[in-house]
Amino acid sequence: MGGRKTRTGALLGSLIVVLLPKLLDDIGTFRIVAVALAVVVALGAAVSMFRGLTTAKRVAVPVAGTVGLAVFAFWQTSITDWRLTIFGLMILLVVYYLQDGIVGFVRSFLNLGRRTVSASVDTTQADAAHGDDAIAAGEPTSGDVLLEVKGMLMQFGGLKALNNVDLAVRGGSIHGLIGPNGSGKSTMMNVLTGIYTPTAGTISYAGKAIGGNAPSQIALSGIARTFQNVQLFGEMTALENVLVGLHHTFRSNLLDVGLRTPRARREEAAARERAFGLLQFVGLAYAANDEARNLPYGKQRLLEIARALALDPKLLLLDEPAAGLTAPDIKELVAIIRKIRDFGITVILIEHHMDVVMGVCQTVSVLDFGQKIAEGRPAEIQADAKVIEAYLGGSVGADAIAEGAH
Ligand code: ADP
Ligand code: MG
Repeated sequence: MGGRKTRTGALLGSLIVVLLPKLLDDIGTFRIVAVALAVVVALGAAVSMFRGLTTAKRVAVPVAGTVGLAVFAFWQTSITDWRLTIFGLMILLVVYYLQDGIVGFVRSFLNLGRRTVSASVDTTQADAAHGDDAIAAGEPTSGDVLLEVKGMLMQFGGLKALNNVDLAVRGGSIHGLIGPNGSGKSTMMNVLTGIYTPTAGTISYAGKAIGGNAPSQIALSGIARTFQNVQLFGEMTALENVLVGLHHTFRSNLLDVGLRTPRARREEAAARERAFGLLQFVGLAYAANDEARNLPYGKQRLLEIARALALDPKLLLLDEPAAGLTAPDIKELVAIIRKIRDFGITVILIEHHMDVVMGVCQTVSVLDFGQKIAEGRPAEIQADAKVIEAYLGGSVGADAIAEGAH
């Protein structure tokens, strides 16, 4: 009732539910509260109208309602019989008209909105060329194998989604993973990030075996991902979505946060600034305070990348980031992927747009029915007979991979 999105809202809601029966027990108290409420609302409405913030039409209902309640309070001699009715009407009012609760309504009425980006950040800066500081500087490109998968088998019942796959990804490279639909690409991502426990096979990352580790452990060890189907927190702003990715940087405990100690506030301000930097990096600074669900689809995909980068990954897995994007959006995405690599972050790119894969990847691995059928430089892959066969049934020339796979 108070508003589920804020702490004040939750407290106010509980207070109302606890105090209301008491309040409605005694007609004297009820009269005082009803009159006070009517006076506050009428005064608020008068001030807002005077300042030109609202119109008479918009405030008519709340003013009439609260004044009516005050009149009603004096008209009745006992309020006890009306308790349930009043409570029910309040619930209905909140459900129909105040979906963000009382606090949400008051905030939007006063145009406070959500807490926005900290004042020290200049939101007017152009996106391009900013936000680079937000990316943790990667280690120099070593070219050594960062991720090594051996003999990977992932079985769902009788289906071998991955069948004895070996994969070696070099540090600092963009490694393409392609293959027809259902060939096991997303399954590979899910195995690498610990969502599926492989039936057999080993994964070694930066020299350590990570097979069987929990997804959270793997994420903290520096492997971040995006999803084939965008998975954002829709009701949260773009900035808040990135803040979620930064949670690993917080050292404050529950008490710090509850009491808003200097440490908690300092950390939050730093995280907000960093999150804003990451939004700048992907060109989304202008949308920092927009709810994620209201962003165009292409921008949602970029937001997912920003959130993944918040984990300070050494390895970033992108599952079809260009799917459903328009041509200009794809161009922007490719530039961002290159920029990420230039910061020393290794990228595994699953993609159906062959021009993207062929344009940015150093090495491409091709899966078909869960098996790796080819691997090599993009040009070699494009000319590989087995790859052409897998994609097109072998009837068309190599050039058609680029066309046909769109
Ligand atoms: P791709 O991403 O290459 O299109 P996927 O990795 O999503 O393919 O799927 C590979 C195969 O594994 C498909 O046949 C799919 O139906 C199957 N598969 C994927 N995940 C599961 C699961 N959780 N349970 C059962 N079968 C699955
Ligand atoms: Mg997939």
